Amino acid sequence: TARPVRRVLVSVFHKEGLETLAQAFVESGTEVVSTGSTAAFLKNLGVNVTPAEDVTGFPECLEGRVKTLHPHIHAGILADMTNPDHAAQLDKLEIKPFDAVVVNLYPFADTVRSGASEADIIEKIDIGGPSMVRGAAKNAATVAVITDPQDYALLAERITNGSGFTLPERRYLAAKAFAHTSAYDATIIEWASKHWTKPETLDKAGEITTYTRTWDKESVLRYGENSHQSASLYVDPLTAADFAHAEQLGGKAMSYNNYVDADAAWRSVWDFPEDIAVAVVKHNNPCGLAIGETVAEAHRKAHACDPMSAYGGVIAANTTVTLEMAQNVKPIFTEVIVAPDFEPDALELLQTKKNLRILKVPARPAAHAQIRQIDGGLLVQDMDVFQSEGDNPENWTLVAGEAADDTTLKDLAFAWRAVRSVKSNAILIAHDGATVGIGMGQVNRVDSSHLAVDRANTLADGQNRTQGAVAASDAFFPFADGMKILTDAGVKAIVHPGGSIRDEEVFAAAEEAGITMYVTGTRHFFH
Ligand code: 5GP
Repeated sequence: TARPVRRVLVSVFHKEGLETLAQAFVESGTEVVSTGSTAAFLKNLGVNVTPAEDVTGFPECLEGRVKTLHPHIHAGILADMTNPDHAAQLDKLEIKPFDAVVVNLYPFADTVRSGASEADIIEKIDIGGPSMVRGAAKNAATVAVITDPQDYALLAERITNGSGFTLPERRYLAAKAFAHTSAYDATIIEWASKHWTKPETLDKAGEITTYTRTWDKESVLRYGENSHQSASLYVDPLTAADFAHAEQLGGKAMSYNNYVDADAAWRSVWDFPEDIAVAVVKHNNPCGLAIGETVAEAHRKAHACDPMSAYGGVIAANTTVTLEMAQNVKPIFTEVIVAPDFEPDALELLQTKKNLRILKVPARPAAHAQIRQIDGGLLVQDMDVFQSEGDNPENWTLVAGEAADDTTLKDLAFAWRAVRSVKSNAILIAHDGATVGIGMGQVNRVDSSHLAVDRANTLADGQNRTQGAVAASDAFFPFADGMKILTDAGVKAIVHPGGSIRDEEVFAAAEEAGITMYVTGTRHFFH
């Protein structure tokens, strides 16, 4: 099934690596047909090139929009030469078949990422290239298709030794080529569906019902969540300014768990746009989160919430890390530190810790769809951000006790913002712009309340940190019991979404306990 490669079509945007091919073409006297700048490039390397125009008898036109879209090219790609009828038809039409097609496409994703104008982006939607690639891939019966510059050396070798490719080899290259054009189209859809949304005049037209995304493999990770699981990092090809593209400024390579925890830590702080916030995260949950006058102060307060758990944690700041904060972080065993920036002397100090991974991350995520895998399917949702009316304390409803004073209201607002990044069921106790006790991830709200109170008080060197503190719950209290654990511990004000069928019972218990209670009408589950 091996077919030698004697006639090749080359039309590539990226010219790097062509030297290897050119040498093989020259040595083996391969017949080469090529387009505009590819032809010029190959000629420079001494290859005897036939311009595509000479094959089509038609000039390249419309600034390159039409170069190879011609039957003299496409019949040469699509004729199945194992079929005598196809061979006879080509003969009659005086069209010569290709044995290999080497194409790579206009850089659509790179152009989007560069912030180019819409007109430039549209011009980078390759039409002739994918047509040739798909034609050659469909016709793997006789044509070898090369889309990946990494495969040039292989093609050069097979041309030089005259063996060409076997059918299974051509089929594998075809599968690879279809993956290439499919990913290319997915990127265009991703861009177009964001920028060319449905106008009102097309109200009656159907929706886009296919969720198509493409991800570029960025790196292979050492292993996954556990050492027996393999894992890789894939990134969005259309952006460079997101968390997955974060620049690493120090430390060992990021692990799978480092990425999960660092993303959770970052998530804990980016939604505090008006404050300086620092979070310490372990196993996807904050063990401390605080706002402060300075980033060093915010870190001190966040760390003080639960110094035991902070050991081996991930620290995230939503603003530039200062030398003072770096000095405080240095003695604490920390896996990763993430921030939008680092003062030079702070960075230098942190870099002295060889194992500390340092990531420079964006200030906020680009608005993204959030994807979660279930077996055989995906759940896709908008990302949860502070966006609802209920997130604004001005829209809260006072349902028990007296209206909170300014300081208490500030703490409630902080607690409400902070509880969003705690796994449900989440109960978060806060004081003075810092968490003091976090109950996370329990299967009922009573356990979460117990956990929050216990952590606040057992970790506090004999201090009662719940007395006079405030609390937030990510969802309503289904019964008064969870709430009572908080009021019994001395919590003076609570904010939660409300909406339980037993709301009245909960509000009455709050009234009886003499605390202030607000409901937001908005929920921030995080499962
Ligand atoms: P060159 O740099 O050789 O002038 O053009 C190479 C690029 O043009 C390749 O990326 C190839 O995919 C693309 N291409 C080849 N033929 C056509 C065509 O007929 N129309 C369009 N729009 N692009 C083409």
